[in-house]
Amino acid sequence: MRSLALLGAVLVLGSACAGGPPASEIPRPMTEREYLRSRKMMVPVHGVRPSQLQDTYNARRSGGRTHNALDVMVRRGTPVVSADDGVVRRISTNPLGGRTVYVVDHAQRFVHYYAHLDEYARGLREGQAVRRGDLIGTVGTTGNAPRNAPHLHYQLLRYADSRMWWTGEPVNPLPYLTRRGKRR
Ligand SMILES: [Zn+2]
Repeated sequence: MRSLALLGAVLVLGSACAGGPPASEIPRPMTEREYLRSRKMMVPVHGVRPSQLQDTYNARRSGGRTHNALDVMVRRGTPVVSADDGVVRRISTNPLGGRTVYVVDHAQRFVHYYAHLDEYARGLREGQAVRRGDLIGTVGTTGNAPRNAPHLHYQLLRYADSRMWWTGEPVNPLPYLTRRGKRR
């Protein structure tokens, strides 16, 4: 009798598995907005609150370009921290951005670009994992930033699934920087 009841239970379980969950419960990949909201990203400058950010994303730049990034104006030397968890993928210098760092998130959906750095964080190296709030460097004016206007140039880019992974479309990060910048 007891074994029959057990057999019944196993049969019920078996049929539930075979049937699978209703279509509405099948997990689907997060949309871009859902994903970015779920990251609970940090303003990438220590001590700066989301409400203090200026939306400079659509600002015009020379040569008909659009800024497509956020500038955070703060004192030279202020710590720049990682907005999200990820891996330092590139540390390089270029004429516009000056000292720059590229961090790719672990899902390889986005690239975080930090530019005009005064100094790099000591020991920072390509391939290093960083967590939200880890030190990247300090705010400065390297590259084409005016000497009297130190700021972090921060850009969020879609990860391009190619060898040129840093060339994806930019996304305005402003709505997703929901935490105050705080160095770990
Ligand atoms: Zn900028």
